Amino acid sequence: MNVPLLDVAAQLTPLKSELMKAIEDVVDSGRFIMGPLVEELEEKIAQYAGAKYGISMSSGTDALLAALMALDVGPGDIVLSTPYSFFATVGVVARLGATPVFVDIDLQSYNIDPAELENWFEENKAEIPRVKAIIPVHLYGQCADMERIMQIASRYGIPVIEDGAQAIGSSCPFGGKIKSSGSIGKMGCFSFFPSKNLGAMGDGGMVVTSDEALAEKLAKLRNHGSAPKYYHSLIGGNFRLDALQAAVLLVKLPHLDTWHEMRRANAVFYDEQLSGIAGLKMPAITWSRENHIYNQYVISVDSRRNELRDYLQGQGITTEVYYPVSFHEQECFRYLGYNTGDFPNSEFAASHTLALPIYPELTREMQAYVVEQIKAFFA
Ligand SMILES: *Cc1c(COP(=O)(O)O)cnc(C)c1O
Repeated sequence: MNVPLLDVAAQLTPLKSELMKAIEDVVDSGRFIMGPLVEELEEKIAQYAGAKYGISMSSGTDALLAALMALDVGPGDIVLSTPYSFFATVGVVARLGATPVFVDIDLQSYNIDPAELENWFEENKAEIPRVKAIIPVHLYGQCADMERIMQIASRYGIPVIEDGAQAIGSSCPFGGKIKSSGSIGKMGCFSFFPSKNLGAMGDGGMVVTSDEALAEKLAKLRNHGSAPKYYHSLIGGNFRLDALQAAVLLVKLPHLDTWHEMRRANAVFYDEQLSGIAGLKMPAITWSRENHIYNQYVISVDSRRNELRDYLQGQGITTEVYYPVSFHEQECFRYLGYNTGDFPNSEFAASHTLALPIYPELTREMQAYVVEQIKAFFA
């Protein structure tokens, strides 16, 4: 049996005629960049995420970049984030000439550890005025501890940008309520990369915010800082979203909660079937299962992670290692001066975790096969 990590075709097949109609409408409209479909998507995503404004972007990366630009982050500034995420989270910081500074994750959630964040502020008092933003990542579809992160950030008056690229529709307790990811910090960034829970047929992203001035600035930055046309009050870029992507996403959005639910059901099955295997740790639920959107189901394996991966590949099961090298050990960040050993939890995660197929259309039969093969490996 073959079990892929993700099967986008399985998701699109039932929607194909609706998608083709939506695409045809865009073709007929002759309106390919921005326009009414993009605006409709912005409204719907903002509403979905519990924020006032949605500003679409050409990717999740550009959403993060524009969010930092909206805060005027540049040379001399520090942005705090985690060493364990997809590259874009901190690549954008460095691209603006600012310095990414890392704070280790906790090994339960793989998200930034608020206690470590607290320590950083205690131990780096002289640097605090340089900190222009904190970017917590809601890794694998589960919210970071926003309550504590926001407490620390607000103590120092530092804006928080949520990297919700893997977490649209996830939520967590905040201020006595359950809040959606992206709606808690000053800005929240989403990605519509095809492997995310809400994937486009190409690149796309969005910043959500409830701050009107920031929303206006983001909308300008996205279009070379111009408004009106050819009058540039800011230096922005081309971060615009295509109408085709908006059309596809508008077809898919009504199904998103069902897809989250299917992923959760798959996670329940793995949780039940994989419990009690010595040498394997299942992903921990920080809040409650309903708050988690399971963009990935990531197990932690004893010293034989790579062997398990190879074994499963040999049995037709594709897995993935997110992320094999932490940022502080990346070649391009050598100039930051970090050493191996500086972020032990990130390093541990990088060398022990493995993502199993969790996509909504994964059948029980396929999942049972994955479980059977994992058990065979450990036996
Ligand atoms: C996917 C991802 C991004 C970047 O999104 P793109 O749309 O691929 O540019 C940023 N951060 C995280 C955590 C991601 O998973």
